[in-house]
Amino acid sequence: MKIIKTIREMRAFRPQCTVGFLPTMGYLHEGHLSLVRLAKKENDVVVVSIFVNPAQFNDANDLEKYPTDIERDIQLLERENVDVLFLPTRNEVYPNGIPALSLRYERMMQQLCGAFRPNHFEGVLLIVHNLLLWVAPTRAYFGLKDYQQYLLIKKMSGDLSLAVEIVGAPLVREKDGLAMSSRNVRLTEKGRTEALKISKALFAAKEDVLSGKLSFAQIKDGLWKVLEPLQIEYATLCDADTLEEIVEKRCQSILIAVAAYVDGVRLIDNALILR
Ligand code: AMP
Repeated sequence: MKIIKTIREMRAFRPQCTVGFLPTMGYLHEGHLSLVRLAKKENDVVVVSIFVNPAQFNDANDLEKYPTDIERDIQLLERENVDVLFLPTRNEVYPNGIPALSLRYERMMQQLCGAFRPNHFEGVLLIVHNLLLWVAPTRAYFGLKDYQQYLLIKKMSGDLSLAVEIVGAPLVREKDGLAMSSRNVRLTEKGRTEALKISKALFAAKEDVLSGKLSFAQIKDGLWKVLEPLQIEYATLCDADTLEEIVEKRCQSILIAVAAYVDGVRLIDNALILR
């Protein structure tokens, strides 16, 4: 696997074949690797980036505690036969500090995580936009675990006519249902058990939507009841295209989304009902 550390070298790399790209913040797990495998299947060459982007952390403590293990990540990517790892330093990405430029979708960024993480998605869009320019992939892969992120990136890519296909990849869970996340290592054993309430609540809510027996207000109440012992940030049913909360319209695609703190670790998860 080739490791590229500079933007200049990354831009010069672009081969004359299909390139699949997967941006990450490292501390890789099966969720990331499933995206790598999908990208391998659909492209001739696969590029993975690892960059813990300070511009998207609204909480300095979260940035400080973000787990890293580059040696292990390199081993995992080599095992998957990834062709290139783009591993820039902070100084390479932001030589003049974090730029004041912001890419913003006023309304969609006020929903879900956007309401609780000021400037987070602006930071995400800026880095993803730049990475897409530097890598110039045919397809870029994003996990539906971060559904709001995927939707915003897809919208940005369309609105800026970026020459890339944005692919949403299925959410990967542990056997017991917990959504895989680099942050899960920070959970205590007890916290990890508590965290299972999130997927459990989501699965029950999805079943309730599909069965059509309860109103959305009742389903939302049920969600909050299961999640009650946790520090809930949001738990809601929304339109999967706009992220606006829905009241009672069963025809559109629905996202049931949760963010909650367990052991001081912020966890997000969701269930999608596509129509
Ligand atoms: P991160 O390193 O957390 O920024 O994630 C990098 C990419 O992997 C993002 O597109 C995430 O949505 C995706 N990802 C992270 N966890 C999962 C998961 N459990 N299932 C599917 N995709 C994931």
